Amino acid sequence: MSLQRNPPDGAPSPQQLPDGLMDEQRRAAAVEEAVHQLSLHLSGHRRWFVLTGAGCSTESGIPAYRDETGAWRHKPPIQLHEFMGSESVRRRYWARSFVGFPRVHRALPNAAHHALAQLERQDRVRLLVTQNVDLLHQKAGSQNVIDLHGQLAWVACLGCRSLIERERVQHWLAANNPTLFAHDGAPDPDQRDASGHALAPDGDAQLALDVSGLQIPPCPSCGGLLKPNVVFFGETVPPQKVRDSYAALEEADAVLVVGSSLAVFSGYRFVRRAAELRKPIVVVNSGMTRADALAQLKLSGPCGALLDGALQLLSPGAA
Ligand SMILES: [Zn+2]
Repeated sequence: MSLQRNPPDGAPSPQQLPDGLMDEQRRAAAVEEAVHQLSLHLSGHRRWFVLTGAGCSTESGIPAYRDETGAWRHKPPIQLHEFMGSESVRRRYWARSFVGFPRVHRALPNAAHHALAQLERQDRVRLLVTQNVDLLHQKAGSQNVIDLHGQLAWVACLGCRSLIERERVQHWLAANNPTLFAHDGAPDPDQRDASGHALAPDGDAQLALDVSGLQIPPCPSCGGLLKPNVVFFGETVPPQKVRDSYAALEEADAVLVVGSSLAVFSGYRFVRRAAELRKPIVVVNSGMTRADALAQLKLSGPCGALLDGALQLLSPGAA
């Protein structure tokens, strides 16, 4: 937390307290001040354009690609041209995704998702654009959502363009690879153990597993190549989603960024456009973002606690 305030009259000065207590008191005061500032900004503008990223879902147990300094936590995610060009890359992707998907699929929305859904019900949100593929905003009740990077719960055929539920692909992979995935789900993605299992926000687990014999599913309709219905790195966002997002941005009074470092251009372009249109920008993210210099207010802290706290100030009792 970067915001601080002085203790009220009569309160012990921070210097008189033991280090631990002093830190705790400072932290609590900084959170309180940040919540206050956020609620003031939220009430100061009528219709918000909200942009969310992986940091919004970390409190739901889905880790972000980047840490607080913007560096990769794990190796960079798979690129589209690698997936398209190599059967072995596709085998590795589906094996890792088979292991990682259940954790994303069963994740529950956290306080940040619930607060944003409540702000929409209060008619404060014009549109929520998310870079996340986990459907947690919809699970929390947000209705007006554009999933900029697609939805992991669906798989698309690159031949006939049909969409297939991801769960069917999970069943197919389990049924056709009995030796590789001896149990349903096989290696536990919750464990970051010696074999290096770890999860990315698109359900891509890091596996130390020989996948050379993996059977990967063809399209059940045409036999074509299946790809998760998410935008890979190196792939462009569907133009209609971009146009709809820009249109909503034009109509919005202000922009709220939650849990994104905006390292990826697909999201950053909206903040840049908002700055060109001189719309106020508020950023809530634990760590640096590309929009820090453009923002009227930048808060570094846990998205859930800050948004929920601000919502409570705006409308006490809201959940
Ligand atoms: Zn097909």
